[in-house]
Amino acid sequence: MSRHQPSPTASSTDTGFATRSKEFRPSPVRAVFETALDPSVVSLAGGNPDLSTLPEGSVAQLASSLLSERGPEILQYGSGAGIDGLRELVVELMARRGSSIGSGEVQPLAGSQVGLDLVTKLYCNPGDVILAEDPTYVGALGVFGSYEVQVRHVNIDQDGLDPEAVAHAIDAARAQGHRVPFVYTVPTHQNPTGVTLSPERRRALVEVCAARGVMIIEDDPYGLLDFERTTGPVATLHSMAPEHVIHLGSASKIFSPGLRVGWAVAPAHVRARMQIAAEAVLVHPSVLSQELVVTWLGSPQWTTVLDRSVEFYRERAQATTAALQEHLGDRAEWTDPKGGFFTWVRFPGVELGDILNRGIQEGVLIVPGAACYADGRSSDAVRVAYSGVSPYRVAEGIRRLARAVPAR
Ligand code: PMP
Repeated sequence: MSRHQPSPTASSTDTGFATRSKEFRPSPVRAVFETALDPSVVSLAGGNPDLSTLPEGSVAQLASSLLSERGPEILQYGSGAGIDGLRELVVELMARRGSSIGSGEVQPLAGSQVGLDLVTKLYCNPGDVILAEDPTYVGALGVFGSYEVQVRHVNIDQDGLDPEAVAHAIDAARAQGHRVPFVYTVPTHQNPTGVTLSPERRRALVEVCAARGVMIIEDDPYGLLDFERTTGPVATLHSMAPEHVIHLGSASKIFSPGLRVGWAVAPAHVRARMQIAAEAVLVHPSVLSQELVVTWLGSPQWTTVLDRSVEFYRERAQATTAALQEHLGDRAEWTDPKGGFFTWVRFPGVELGDILNRGIQEGVLIVPGAACYADGRSSDAVRVAYSGVSPYRVAEGIRRLARAVPAR
């Protein structure tokens, strides 16, 4: 079994690079991508949709009809504003989540990760403070670091971010002379913990930020993957204060991550700036990918596949918590996700050390909790992604994790 090779970090051979390049850090998930492909390893690291939810047969047919109906035009350069169909589709998706918008508020992107980059580029100067959950999405930290932004983590519990703590952190940073351009949050089925911000806290968070003129970046790739479907999908923060929230959405978890389609929903004047910033990097998102997303997410099969996927993920979350109970019941505590791909497992009082490589030696991949903090502080937790492996393999992965965790 191959040991994880750390990617090169700053060294004397790095002369010539800009100062900010020191802040570029390899994603711990992408760094172990090769190991994750080894079939003898159970990968609980990447937040990948299950392969069986990716409709390759339907996509082959859709691509072929799009190409024959639209001809070479579909392979030509497209508009930086994205295609009309995708903007209209996002208007419908947002309506399901309580947000009433016009298509002029939608900026199609090549994945929501691009949206994170653009909002940071547009709003933040080096040294600015932004707030994020404790712990937060590891991929966002890579972006914030690259713009030399200081991230302060704000406490969360089973109901998500604590709005009073957010207010306090904004006021404290300002009292120290810092700008605070935005609060970054994944309020629904959070990555990495799986927790969801409660309705009361949603209202309070929006009030706290609006009163202080601080934007909220609502990163929401998991909002439609809700295990408790009786209540309907959770209403967005955006629906509560559209002028103060930039909402980032994605086709990655509800259709295909590889097609690279996501979007930002923002007030029209902000969207216009995002388009200019996006054109400078992307020129435009792939027209063919956008067309495929519109056709698939607009088809009746999609809702059936989505329902089936949600059921898959629900079973996997249950298999994870059952296996945690069986193998780690007396040594760990964990969150109980109501949707999405992740659970956060803490080992109170245990020094986890190099848990990534210990896990690899036992044949399991996880994301070490430390990766979910801007300062890489030591953490007594790991992120477990149950989305891409069968319930049986999840249980095996947890059994291996239990062997990898040092005794207290
Ligand atoms: N935000 C969060 C919270 C995510 O989990 C991910 C994917 N792992 C992204 C953004 C990026 O998604 P996309 O594929 O749309 O770029």
